[in-house]
Amino acid sequence: MIPPGPDLEQRLLDAIPKIRTAKNDGVRAPHKPLLLLLALGRVQRGERRLVPFSEVEKKLEGLLNTYGRPLRGDQQPELPFWHLQTDGLWEIPGGEKLDKGKGEKRPLMTEMRLKAKGGFPEDIDELLRMKPELLRQIAHMLLDEHFPASYHDDLVTAVGLDLSEAVSQRAKRDPVFREQVLNAYGYKCAVCGLAPILDGMSTVLVEAAHLRWHSHGGPSTIENGICLCPLHHKGLDLGVIGISGDSRVLISSRLHGDEVTEKSFGQYHLQSLRGPVHGHAPVRMEYVKWHTEEVFKNPARPSL
Ligand SMILES: [Zn+2]
Repeated sequence: MIPPGPDLEQRLLDAIPKIRTAKNDGVRAPHKPLLLLLALGRVQRGERRLVPFSEVEKKLEGLLNTYGRPLRGDQQPELPFWHLQTDGLWEIPGGEKLDKGKGEKRPLMTEMRLKAKGGFPEDIDELLRMKPELLRQIAHMLLDEHFPASYHDDLVTAVGLDLSEAVSQRAKRDPVFREQVLNAYGYKCAVCGLAPILDGMSTVLVEAAHLRWHSHGGPSTIENGICLCPLHHKGLDLGVIGISGDSRVLISSRLHGDEVTEKSFGQYHLQSLRGPVHGHAPVRMEYVKWHTEEVFKNPARPSL
């Protein structure tokens, strides 16, 4: 619990990084951050403090499917809705009275759907409504801590937040990493080979992607970098594209679409990565492994 007091603002800012208790060894724990972003959006739009679980369940599940860890089974939006209470950032009034079933830590789903309403504790809710700057600062902290820059604009839109600045602009860090990676791959997308030159500049329209995310302990080194066009960069970060143990492109079996989608993604399935050029270190398998476990939307398409 965050005790009430005059320095609530500072204690709130201190509490935000601490919610990542499950983020050990780079394992992604995006459940609570996604719920918090959703809740910040509600506060910003002036909606009421408490929201029924049934009202956010589907939305949260959708966010977890797209931006969360790839899972074998179903996503569980009830986990953050219930467990965020222990971080002192959430409350479900009367939650202790809900029927938990035998030996369970959480109320039954039927109870959650019928009766559980959650939101920021009153003092935090009030503070966030009074200080829109603080709300935006917290949203940025959550985005930076838990998601790669390529997610930010989409996530902000998905939760209905207005951060009144282009969030992706914040991520233009590390020009050295960018230059090294682009150079190692000959300024060419490692998936499709796109290598555009605009007015003599070959650095446009290709980007340096971190395989293991920077926010999750991935270093800015060539062994963790890969040169990609914006489409395939986003595909890699969303887990539509993966990399196999023998450095081939994998396309998720969960991606479907028309012939243009096939042309843009499907045709590269099992193709060897293009690059790096001779003399440069290829991606390290420990980073490929992290991406496979934490990001890639398994399983890959069957090999023909
Ligand atoms: Zn590409």
